[in-house]
Amino acid sequence: MSSKIFDYLIKNYWNLLEVLEQEYIISKIKSQKKTNDFTLTEFDIKFEEKIISRLLSTYNEIIYMNYCPVCGELARTPKAKSAICGHIWHDI
Ligand SMILES: [Zn+2]
Repeated sequence: MSSKIFDYLIKNYWNLLEVLEQEYIISKIKSQKKTNDFTLTEFDIKFEEKIISRLLSTYNEIIYMNYCPVCGELARTPKAKSAICGHIWHDI
C-alpha cells in the first residue's frame, strides 16, 4: 500500500496480521490495481499506523527490522544481506 515499513511488515510478517486486517489490505490492493489510484485515504493512513505500532510492540521479539547499516533503508526481507544502495553485508 504505502509506507516502506508497512510494506515490509505485510510482506514479511503477513501471518501476524488479524484476518480482518488481511482482508482489508487485500481488498485495498485489488481496488488500487483496478482503478490505478494509489492515493490513501485518511482512514488508510491511520490503519497502517495502527498496524505498524501494534505489530512492532506486540511482536518485537519476532519482528526484525533489517536496516542497511550504510544508508539506513529497509532491506527487502529480514534475511536479506543487501540493500537498494548496493551495499552488501554479512553476519557479524
Ligand atoms: Zn544501504
